[in-house]
Amino acid sequence: MSKHSPHYWGIRMALLEVRQLNYVYAAGTPFEKHALNNVSLSVEKGELIGVIGHTGSGKSTLVQHLNGLLRPTSGTVVLDGKDIWENPKAIRSVRFRVGMVFQYPEHQLFEETVRRDIAFGPRNRGLSEEEIEAAVKKAASFAGLREELLDSSPFDLSGGQKRRAAIAGVMAMEPEILVLDEPTAGLDPRSRERMLSRIERYRRENGTTVMLVSHSMEDVAAIADRVLVMNRGEVAMFDTTEAVFSRAEELEAMGLSVPSVTRIFFELRRRGYDVGGNVYTVEQAVARLLPLLKRGCSS
Ligand code: ADP
Repeated sequence: MSKHSPHYWGIRMALLEVRQLNYVYAAGTPFEKHALNNVSLSVEKGELIGVIGHTGSGKSTLVQHLNGLLRPTSGTVVLDGKDIWENPKAIRSVRFRVGMVFQYPEHQLFEETVRRDIAFGPRNRGLSEEEIEAAVKKAASFAGLREELLDSSPFDLSGGQKRRAAIAGVMAMEPEILVLDEPTAGLDPRSRERMLSRIERYRRENGTTVMLVSHSMEDVAAIADRVLVMNRGEVAMFDTTEAVFSRAEELEAMGLSVPSVTRIFFELRRRGYDVGGNVYTVEQAVARLLPLLKRGCSS
């Protein structure tokens, strides 16, 4: 089965499967912590999954299993039909197939120039110099990094530029799965929106599976196809964004709040008003309501 064909004998195969995953930190010590409890999930090629949950719910622990940074205490992580730990010596290759951008990835930069940093992945894939250059430019464009910055030292970049450079570095590896841990942390609302639309565009144009970890419901709601909700080391929900957001009370009980504007629209629909699908921001709500109000006023 090729890595680009998740179909096998007509059966749709998941690109990624996590089966009965358990993880215990500091096992056998007084600091023992059961961080993941029987986590099972399956993700198909090209999906954009939002991963949300309260601090300490197990989001980071889970995603660090996807590229083999952590080894399950029990259970398996299956990539393209194969247990990633089947051959522990080959675990390094999984790090190129599942690209991970950590929180505050600006600390992931270590080369002399931004260009060399972004070129690390393509060079490792054995591409020619021309192909490397093309891959670097493509990734920089997806991450929103201006080309004239490629010859700067990463240390001379602003905070936002550093983050875009680090994201470009992981995108340039052309991973099958791109995992972004809080990519909008600390950004102002406009930069945040731009970052999300860049991620969306990257997924759309490359067909890459993306997992976006965030504590912001607005972020994941804006771009995710499905949302995974973690709570106390367990999968609390894994469903379409629409379905997850309709369970506002349960989410609130887990310390997660659906945007108020989303709740208002739910309530209006529940009371029989035809106000269309979900909205997550005030701007969306205004755009949706204005025509309805105008119609109402003129009738
Ligand atoms: P999240 O990413 O949702 O904030 P984490 O996966 O970081 O959650 O943490 C899950 C649980 O595991 C928390 O209770 C946290 O305190 C604990 N934990 C995380 N990292 C470590 C570690 N290195 N050693 C011990 N416990 C840890």
